[in-house]
Parts: sequence; C-alpha cells; structure tokens
Amino acid sequence: MTTENLYGLLGVERGASADDLKKAWRRAALIHHPDKGGDPEIFKRIQEAYTVLSDPGARAEYDATGRVRRGDDAPPPPQDISEILGSLFGGVGGGGFPIPMFGFGGGGAGAGGGGRPAKGPNKVHEIGVPLADLWAGKTFKLNMKREVLCGRCDGRGGTRMENCGGCGGRGFRIRRQQMGPMVMMAQEGCGECRGAGQRVLERCEGCGGRRVVERETTLDVRIEPGMQEGDRIVFPGACSESPDFATPGDVILVIRAATADAGTWVRHGADLTLELTVTLAESLLGWERQLEGHPSGTALHLVWTGGVVRDGELLRVPGWGMPVRDGGAKGDLRLICRVATADQPEWNEEQRRALESVWLDWRAPVAADRSHRPIRG
Ligand SMILES: [Zn+2]
Ligand SMILES: [Zn+2]
Repeated sequence: MTTENLYGLLGVERGASADDLKKAWRRAALIHHPDKGGDPEIFKRIQEAYTVLSDPGARAEYDATGRVRRGDDAPPPPQDISEILGSLFGGVGGGGFPIPMFGFGGGGAGAGGGGRPAKGPNKVHEIGVPLADLWAGKTFKLNMKREVLCGRCDGRGGTRMENCGGCGGRGFRIRRQQMGPMVMMAQEGCGECRGAGQRVLERCEGCGGRRVVERETTLDVRIEPGMQEGDRIVFPGACSESPDFATPGDVILVIRAATADAGTWVRHGADLTLELTVTLAESLLGWERQLEGHPSGTALHLVWTGGVVRDGELLRVPGWGMPVRDGGAKGDLRLICRVATADQPEWNEEQRRALESVWLDWRAPVAADRSHRPIRG
C-alpha cells in the first residue's frame, strides 16, 4: 500500500476519535460507493484506509512510521451499501447526516442480506402449575407444531429461481432524493419480489411454495422446586422458522398458579398461608387438626396447646412452607386463626359459675334504675 495520507482520504484530523473515524468513513463510503456511481478505485482506498485506522495497533504503527500494514485484528468494513447504511444504527448517534431508512427491520446488519431482522418475535404461553409441582418439581413434555424452513428448497419456495429484475436480486432498492442542500436516501423493500430478491421459476413440491413445512416438536419442560408464579422458562429459538428472520424467536413459558389451588393456600415467596377456623372453646383451650392437601403430599397433624388464640392471630409451622429455589431451605406454613363464635353451646348455672371462677377480676353486672341497656341487632 502507498503511504498516502489515510486521514486526509477520510477527511478527518489526525487525532480523530474512533467514533469520528467511523462517521467519516460512512460518509465517504456512501459518497464513493460504486453502486451509486462512485469511483471503485477511490472506494477501495477508503475501505483500506478505514481498515487500518479502525485497528488500534495498525493505526499506532501508521501514526509512528507513516507506513501501513494490513489491519488484521479489526474486521474489514462492510462493502455492501445496505450494510454501510445499516451501520448507522450501530452506535454513534447524532452528528451524522440524515439518512432516513424504510423497510429495515431494525437490527443486525449482515444477518442474511436484505436487512431482514435478525430474530423473529418470541411466543409467550402461560401454564398453570399446581403447588404440589412447584413444591417437588416436575418434568414433562409439551408437544407443539412448529414450522421449519423447507429442506427441499432451502426455504426459497422454488427449486428453480432467477434473480428479480426489479432489484437485481438484492431484495431492496435505494431511492435517492435531493432536498435542497441535502441528499436523502431511502431504502425500500422491492415490491416485485417482496424483498426476497429472487423469483420462483419452478415451485417447490415439498412446501407447495410456502417456503416452510410443519413439524411436530416436543419441548422438555422442567419445573424446578421453588419456582414461583411469574417465573419464566425460556426455550431459545423454539418458535417457527421463517424466511423473514435469520433466527426464530424464543418460546417462553410463564408460570401461573393452578386454579385448583385457589381459595386455600396463599403463597408469599416461600411462605404458605392458610386460614384456620377454630371454635370458641378451641380458641380458649387448645386444638388439634389433621391438615390434608399440603403441597408436599404429607398430612400434617397440628396440635396447639399454647393458650388462648385470638381471632386473626398468626401461628407458624417453621419449615412447612414452599422450598426456596436453588437452596435446601423451606419457608414457613402460616396459620391465620379465625375464631368461630356461632353455634356455641348454652351453659347452665353450674357451668356458668365454673367459667366465672376462671376470671377472678370479672364482676357480675348489676342492673340499676339508670342503667343503659344495649340490645342485639
Ligand atoms: Zn426484487
Ligand atoms: Zn420447499
């Protein structure tokens, strides 16, 4: 390579930043691109200059000696005009010159030509999972239908193709528009081939020209112990393949509580809460319960002898909540006690005196002439 002034070629100062270099290269590359009537020789020198200056090692050497070696460490700059345009989205904002673009999916340049988006949309499914499965974990298979690119035509839809005459096989056209002192360039998808760049001469019999075929696939779903509502299980790239995307989107399963558990167990993180109704006698004297339906499958025999339980009081059974994900610990079972006072037995005078003897500071009510008497109701 000659010892030409590489900075001058790109139109920047010697100390230009990497961002400024990139902007200057894009500007120069678009102006001198052969597809737009530029001189191929000048375009080539611009590309070579940027190859050297975008490689910090090669640039330092050039700055020190004035000589160039090929910048092997940096990738060569894109040649294709769509990729040069696409590189505008690559990072440096502002300061550039306006090139509005249309029909660009918004993403990776060079994913597969034509500027198609790199990745298809994700699909989100909700699955209801019983608490028992969230407690112990579970694996199961989920069958689904999925479209894959037709193997017989490689997703082109035809076994014999020709380049589209409307766009020369590129799938898009660049429209150049002079607006006062500014040149606007718009990239439009080719209407004749709908962006494919090719036309079908002989339709593929494997897919009937649809470019994709349907396949049954199976997802291996793994519920981990301790997973919670809202947790997501991601299957990267499990969505249908499409000629419109470089890679398919993800299938995402979102865990929801199974409706069968509604109204009994309430989960807060690793804790499980249950309302427990006790009679007035039990609230005063103690109680015993056999609790079925715990997510662990264990029947819990609960015994309370700790004295009076007030309505709304919280009791805990440590270690009988839900498992903590990625750890051996478990949360607590929380019992919210409700004291039922309906259907209490009547007691006779003797029983009543026995009750009175318990509360030594209780004094029998005495009705006087000026007493105010509440009534029920
Ligand atoms: Zn076309
Ligand atoms: Zn096919």
